[in-house]
Amino acid sequence: MIPILVAILAAPADDVSRAELTETVDRLGVLDRISGNEGERQANAYLKKKLTEYGVPFDSYEMELYLSHPMSASVTVLTPEPAKLEAINHAFSRSTPAGGVEGELVYIGRNMTADPFDAPLVDYQDIDVNGKIVLDDGFPAPYRAFATERAGAIAQIYINPDDRLHNMTVTTIWGAPTPETASLLPRNPIVAMRRPDGDGLRDRLARGEKVRVRIDGIVDTRWRKTELVVARVEGGAEKEKFVLIGGHIDSWHEGVTDNATGNAAMLEAARLLHRNRDRLLRSVRIAWWPGHSPGRYAGSAWYADHFFSDLRENAVAHINIDSIGTRSATRYSATHMAELERFNLDLIRAKTGQEQKGSRPGKVADESFVGLGIPSVRFSKSIPEGSPDRGVADGSGGSWWWHSREDSRDKVDLDLLAEETDLLVAMTEGLAAPPLIPYDFRATATEMKEKLESIEPYDTRNLVSLVERFAAHAETLASVSEKTVADTRAFNDGLIHISHALNSVYYSRSGPYDQDSNELIPRFPGLAIASELAHLDRGSDEARFLEVRLKREENRIEEALREAIAVADALSGSRAR
Ligand SMILES: [Zn+2]
Repeated sequence: MIPILVAILAAPADDVSRAELTETVDRLGVLDRISGNEGERQANAYLKKKLTEYGVPFDSYEMELYLSHPMSASVTVLTPEPAKLEAINHAFSRSTPAGGVEGELVYIGRNMTADPFDAPLVDYQDIDVNGKIVLDDGFPAPYRAFATERAGAIAQIYINPDDRLHNMTVTTIWGAPTPETASLLPRNPIVAMRRPDGDGLRDRLARGEKVRVRIDGIVDTRWRKTELVVARVEGGAEKEKFVLIGGHIDSWHEGVTDNATGNAAMLEAARLLHRNRDRLLRSVRIAWWPGHSPGRYAGSAWYADHFFSDLRENAVAHINIDSIGTRSATRYSATHMAELERFNLDLIRAKTGQEQKGSRPGKVADESFVGLGIPSVRFSKSIPEGSPDRGVADGSGGSWWWHSREDSRDKVDLDLLAEETDLLVAMTEGLAAPPLIPYDFRATATEMKEKLESIEPYDTRNLVSLVERFAAHAETLASVSEKTVADTRAFNDGLIHISHALNSVYYSRSGPYDQDSNELIPRFPGLAIASELAHLDRGSDEARFLEVRLKREENRIEEALREAIAVADALSGSRAR
């Protein structure tokens, strides 16, 4: 185990206050906190009052975010048997004109209930959706909804996986649109209905009946005033560097396990970290993001834009806290970028006794700092398959009440919330307290090499040899301790530099100056498109255009690797002996 973790675990328990956690969950859990509304404003007022009471310094930023509030939706069956069905609108769906949108229904669904977001694209050559209203299964995966729209659909209806109405967001754009992405905003009205209603329509279509429906729906999308509260726990000798803890303050309805519980843990962590700040070398920022659901992570994206240089230079790690303290959750999972793998797995094992495999973060849920290269590290605990509380998606601990009006106070396990708050404090101290930041780049190098060797059909030997050079440095860096480093501050600067440079090309397509869209992003995304070459005639224009793109992506990765090697070289030289 990393020595610093041994020290943190040996420190006296920080007695997480159950009374404080309970108060916050109770206060926030009765407010309808859709971002930009009065409930969110009251939640922020509560945070500021408590931080003042604790003596924790904080900043408050007022800004306008581009937010989309679903107002109303209904589906009227016109033929063969008239009926009015309850429906829910999605954020960034388009409003229907007066009189609604009318059309013939066509079913394109596959059974997606097992993994409602892993929705493969449909072959629209086989199913003609042009001019029709599409009926699809599962929660809307934004990239699939987008493809359906571009294939000519005039509106879309999703059959929710159960008999509840779940709120979702359908744009693929991360945060506010830019001139390049604005045209990607959905043009279709996109609504969802309960499973029994949807199954009824699907069965009619399966029997060959013609079904005509009308969709009516209002979505209110515009710039809205909102607020971001960021608590500041000041570190010691390296106080300019910081660990960023973030979690969304807004929610669908009263959203208690998503995310009043997370907000409570963050507030309690702020109190405890501030009380014991003399243990910390580096600072901690705790940010309650607005704009999560109706802005597609617009609050954290705003912070990435407006604190860019500070984040690039000084952010040690980003811990996202979402949907914790959920009843019936038993199984921890660890998610982290490779350099924090050893740290996170050791921490979770030591604190919970659970052995993890760990996985890499996707570009989801306020991971707005991936392109900047800031290593993400987090934990979550979910409800096992077979539990009566288990739903089909991962939100709210994998519960059935996720993003519905039933995400209420009775779904909270306070013992678990206290345990997870303690874990959050230990994780933060483990990153902010030790003389050397606990990155271990050996896993990064191993994984990068494997990934590059698997990219086909494109010659990655140049990059593989650079990764091998970096791997040798990673071994050296892993063997140093604060006793063998002459200048720990400069050493930590170098570690952050290496981490940010590599992560920007390894986990992100757009890199630091833009936001990737909301989709599953493969590792080395710039080169992953090489697989398309296999399906093309290598002499064709299309293949050769793609080769131009791949060469440029190779250059981007090569530069990051050379930068990491140069910094690591300098760090090896800065060792005392
Ligand atoms: Zn959430």
